[in-house]
Amino acid sequence: MTADLKKKRLQALIFYTVLFILSVIGIIVTTFIGLTLNPESPEVPNLMVFQAMMFILAFFTGMEAWKYYNIKIPEIRLIELIKCSGCGYVETRMPKKGDYVFKKVGKCLKCGGELYIESILREVKNVKAGR
Ligand SMILES: [Zn+2]
Repeated sequence: MTADLKKKRLQALIFYTVLFILSVIGIIVTTFIGLTLNPESPEVPNLMVFQAMMFILAFFTGMEAWKYYNIKIPEIRLIELIKCSGCGYVETRMPKKGDYVFKKVGKCLKCGGELYIESILREVKNVKAGR
């Protein structure tokens, strides 16, 4: 699910960034065209309307790209705490399918006691920082 969100975010980011760059190029190109045109020419006012539209487009796509750039998708992963009933040795690992709390998972390498799953935790990384 997290990977899916990441993909969508990246697609939106690319989409708005490309639009932003295109509209900036549009502004630059129309500015150059405007410079080569005679200011008395009737073409100039039309070009300015076009430029204003490009500018608005650049502004909004820039804002959208920035917004998507700043979205932090929380990365949630599960970790398991495995504890030895004999010596209290603790280790963590990625949960496997079918794991549950208090499930016995083997023998302790240190003391030969029973290893069991003490808890399954959700670890959240990359939480959006408040501004
Ligand atoms: Zn032990």
